[in-house]
Amino acid sequence: MVDKSWVHLCRAGPAYEKGASEFVRDVAVALGDANMIVCPCIDCRNIDCHVCNVVVDHLVTRGMEEAYKSRSDWYHHGELNSGLQGETKSSQRNEEIFGLYKAAELGDVEFAINDYFGEIAEGEDKKEDEFLAKIADAETPLYPSCVNHSKLSAIVSLFRLKTHNGWSDKIFSNLLETLPGMLPADNVLNTSLYEVKKFLKSFDLGYENIHACVNDCCLFRKKYKKLESCPKCKISRWKTNIHTGEVKQGVPQKVLRYFPIIPRLKRMFRSEDMAKDLRWHFTNKSTDGKLRHPVDSVTWDQMNDIYPSFAAEERNVRLGLSTAYRSHNCRIYTLNIPICFNM
Ligand SMILES: [Zn+2]
Ligand SMILES: [Zn+2]
Repeated sequence: MVDKSWVHLCRAGPAYEKGASEFVRDVAVALGDANMIVCPCIDCRNIDCHVCNVVVDHLVTRGMEEAYKSRSDWYHHGELNSGLQGETKSSQRNEEIFGLYKAAELGDVEFAINDYFGEIAEGEDKKEDEFLAKIADAETPLYPSCVNHSKLSAIVSLFRLKTHNGWSDKIFSNLLETLPGMLPADNVLNTSLYEVKKFLKSFDLGYENIHACVNDCCLFRKKYKKLESCPKCKISRWKTNIHTGEVKQGVPQKVLRYFPIIPRLKRMFRSEDMAKDLRWHFTNKSTDGKLRHPVDSVTWDQMNDIYPSFAAEERNVRLGLSTAYRSHNCRIYTLNIPICFNM
């Protein structure tokens, strides 16, 4: 694999020139110490050949042709064409989600094992056994001869459809009741929404319910955790029966659903494919002046200028916040990844 990281560096810097020289040298060596090689600069466009020094000069002074630069295979310089990559991408998505869930589980076991160290050694074995049983259950084929889906991948795929298309719990329950009848008799698809939610929850990617003041003054957490009414507007935390005026103790007027972000980020980095996607922004900035992703924006560059040490580490996570007032949705996006994953 030819090192391509240099091609995205500033052409005025010594690192770019060093990268270009090494690249040209390696290509020439691979061609049996050739004197002339195909020049990938914006003018020669892999059509004209020049002696090695001239190719380096062209790369430094003119830059590499944009389309060639963004290719993963520099096929004019001895790399194999890998045209299949795009086709397999979508089928990889399920694998990635599966990897994420699996990573979530591995993470929990690691934490659990760390907790147990120095305490009870047998506890470790028990936890390990439970974990292996859970993974085995999740990896069970959907039905014995099924090669495309495990129990986990099937449930995750269906749940994605539900969330992406806004299906109600009722629609989803009906689908779950119908599907097993269409599958071979010994399938392992859970048949109720409750079971499916319980199954997913066992991988600990759930959310926290936090009670909120009905007028949005405060959240009933930390020092307000035990209050019965809002400290500012004095409105009751609990619902009241509209007919009798009786307070329904324990039934909150408003609930905030909070999806903790840190465990999610940790898990994304534990999944091999997602960890790769989280570094996508670093090498995929648009080079033709077109805006396709926040990474191509002026604001992104301004942030990089203000925080150069943050910008230098490709694994640093950049988050975007979006709100939709009417639905009271407040979402945080990871801007590191290709835009299609955030849709
Ligand atoms: Zn050239
Ligand atoms: Zn209030």
